[in-house]
Amino acid sequence: MAYPAEVRKLYQDQIKVMREAGILKEERFICSPQAADIEVEFPAGSPLKKVINMCANNYLGLSSHPEVIKAAHEGLDRRGFGLSSVRFICGTQDLHRQLEEKMSEFLGTEDTILFPSCMDANAGVFEAILTKEDVIISDRLVHASLIDGIRLCSAMNDSYKHSDLEHLEQKLQMYQDKRLRLVVTDGVFSMDGDAAKLDKMVELCDKYNAMLLVDDSHATGFIGKTGRGTHEKFGVMGKIDVITTTFGKALGGATGGCVSGRKELVEMCRQKARPYLFSNTVAPMIIAGVLKVLDILSATTERRDKLEKNTNYWRKGLTEAGFIVKEGDTPIVPVMLYNAKLAQDFSVALYEEGIYAIGFFFPVVPQGQARIRTQLSAAHEIHHLDKALKAFTKVGKKFDILHKTKQEIIDKYGM
Ligand SMILES: *Cc1c(COP(=O)(O)O)cnc(C)c1O
Repeated sequence: MAYPAEVRKLYQDQIKVMREAGILKEERFICSPQAADIEVEFPAGSPLKKVINMCANNYLGLSSHPEVIKAAHEGLDRRGFGLSSVRFICGTQDLHRQLEEKMSEFLGTEDTILFPSCMDANAGVFEAILTKEDVIISDRLVHASLIDGIRLCSAMNDSYKHSDLEHLEQKLQMYQDKRLRLVVTDGVFSMDGDAAKLDKMVELCDKYNAMLLVDDSHATGFIGKTGRGTHEKFGVMGKIDVITTTFGKALGGATGGCVSGRKELVEMCRQKARPYLFSNTVAPMIIAGVLKVLDILSATTERRDKLEKNTNYWRKGLTEAGFIVKEGDTPIVPVMLYNAKLAQDFSVALYEEGIYAIGFFFPVVPQGQARIRTQLSAAHEIHHLDKALKAFTKVGKKFDILHKTKQEIIDKYGM
């Protein structure tokens, strides 16, 4: 038998250990479109409950925007449901190229190539442009998909301490004998919400003759004055060699991603990136929807401006209530709880108060760094945030963690 009882038990035991440690991830069923107000079935089989969503990547509130939905419908009607092909066989429609050109314009880059997701973009880009004569030097807190992409590449890899540019400089000096050096970072780091200092990084890369790759998934559409991303915020548009990003967050939140940057690097991806060559083309309705999102964003900065206001309001509210909030100025606002089980229990208590916010713990964040990661959206109104602040404060009191130091929380709950 291929799946004998002892093998089944092996897995059952592992799952049991996770459940007992309070770290088994249980999915909640949302029975409405993605929005600030959602209807949720949790635990499975329970009646629907209306809650405020405080943890979506729906930064600009475009996931269910009527114009985007309409554009997607039109894409469906005019170009069909799917293409049953990868891009280079018969999976490239006019719409795909239009989106590639529009993304290049939006990001201020030379060219763009679409991928089924940003995870795929990151899985494909490194091996497409580097060889074993080269070195990748990455920030120690980069996204899991970058780590996987780097693993799939034959280039040597090394890392520098999170956002520590002196350490990065040492590494760059160390690898001057390599053919190529590629520095890799997130634009905005997904778990802490802090931004990479791209202006300084561009200088360093110039000085030590290195290329720079930025994954801007948590920035494209809303960071920077006109929402172009972290490179706009730091005044280095046109100077990032490779940007990878997703359509699955601010840009409508469906699926898809891209590699955007130097023309030749994009062409190398088109020729060699395996998730591009061996995975299906992005469906036409998604492309049509994202094209509409870019039109909306290019016409006005109203949404990112509202998001910024909401973010400031929320950060200030949580801090005044006595929570330990990771510093930063992005719409990712982590409420630190340190202990995994506390994060889980806190999330369940919030849910009872009508607030949907998920606990994050190892391996998604380092051990002892458990948290509730809250995320703001332009879809939030002040009344949503006031209600959420009230609920957070109530639950914070219940667990007795308000106006406490990190050490006091750890002493009470453990790491
Ligand atoms: C979300 C995210 C991804 C994955 O994007 P998908 O398009 O959902 O695969 C990649 N990188 C970073 C930094 C992300 O935050």
